[in-house]
Amino acid sequence: MRRFVSSLFTASLIAAVSAHAFGQTLSADERKIVDYIDRNGGAAISLLEASVNIESPTEDLDGVKKVGELYRKELESLGMKTAWLDLPPELKRAGHLIAESNGTRGKRLLLLGHLDTVLRGEPYKLDGTRAFGTGVGDMKGGNLIIIQALKALHAVGALKDSRIIAMFTGDEEDTADPIEVSRRDMVAAAKRSDAALSFEGTVLNTATVGRRGFSSWKLEVTAKTGHSGQIFRDGMGDGAVFEAARILNEFRLALGKEKYLTFNPSLIVGGTTVETKDADGRASGKTNVVAAKAIVNGDLRFISEAQKLAARARMTEIVSKSLAGTTAKITFEDGLPAMSPNEGNYKLLAELDKVSKDLGFGAVEALDPGERGAGDIAFVADIVPSLDGIGIGGTRASHAKGESADLNTLPMLTKRAALLIYRLTR
Ligand SMILES: [Zn+2]
Repeated sequence: MRRFVSSLFTASLIAAVSAHAFGQTLSADERKIVDYIDRNGGAAISLLEASVNIESPTEDLDGVKKVGELYRKELESLGMKTAWLDLPPELKRAGHLIAESNGTRGKRLLLLGHLDTVLRGEPYKLDGTRAFGTGVGDMKGGNLIIIQALKALHAVGALKDSRIIAMFTGDEEDTADPIEVSRRDMVAAAKRSDAALSFEGTVLNTATVGRRGFSSWKLEVTAKTGHSGQIFRDGMGDGAVFEAARILNEFRLALGKEKYLTFNPSLIVGGTTVETKDADGRASGKTNVVAAKAIVNGDLRFISEAQKLAARARMTEIVSKSLAGTTAKITFEDGLPAMSPNEGNYKLLAELDKVSKDLGFGAVEALDPGERGAGDIAFVADIVPSLDGIGIGGTRASHAKGESADLNTLPMLTKRAALLIYRLTR
């Protein structure tokens, strides 16, 4: 918290100083980009307000498209070529907006935002410098930073030369299956890019070089059943509930301390009869009957594909060592891949760090990968160097009511993003 407050202080102090204060480290064009962002703060906030006031939970296909249309107009006015990428109707998602500049110089960049929100909309409301409303941080604020940065580049004539793809997905919060279809266009865009930047909310003075992926698992145990007085005896065995308990405890002992790996049993049912459906479970069993079945559902979070596969192998091995009279099996389902920290990601971070220092905003460090949930960047992070967590700052509660973002951070973050994009595309 202290660090948050002091960085805000620095930001407002710097904003008060004239552009000439950092004249040595910024080129003439870069100073013009900074000036543009300072002069157009009001218009930026109006665009944020307009976007938040269009409700766009993932399942509201019209709302998601309307937010896309709002951005599309802005991006077309910069001379970018735009398209709406539909998904097959059975996926029940709105599709994605893509915009492209068609220059010939510098690194080819992929910028990622998303149009959808988790919840239905709470309208935009300003309280001092804190803006409230569904999606204001996650990630209509981040989308705004992309658009303002591109506008600033356009204002100095630097956009037309560049090779930038901006992509705004319509289903980041609830990615449509199969991902081979719903993320095909994103993967294709990454394959013709040299780096990807994603604008999920920042934790101030950090950026994300790695984030964990997740998958789910289901453990199913069956056992001999009979009178409870026979448990542990030859011919009866230990029952399904003890076997489930053994397995979970061995998971914890074997893997519970591994860095960046977590596995959470989220639902457990055991008894004579059991069933589960999605996040619900039912069970029945009298106290004098040995449990015949147990089911456990859980998730698994990991920092690399190798860590995921090793953990799955260890879990499967533990499951196979059944107690007497029981058998068990575990099945895994892929969720989102991990964004593994790598040298290319750290190089992008170093570029951002330099931009930030040149602007007088201080150092930018890597956020602990364990602190960040899964996101769209993970679908391309194994294709191109990637950086995430450079969207609007001071965000709160994006998956709950009362979402808000700190508008004080907006000029600083927009300048950082604009100069990072500018320098990468020179
Ligand atoms: Zn998001």
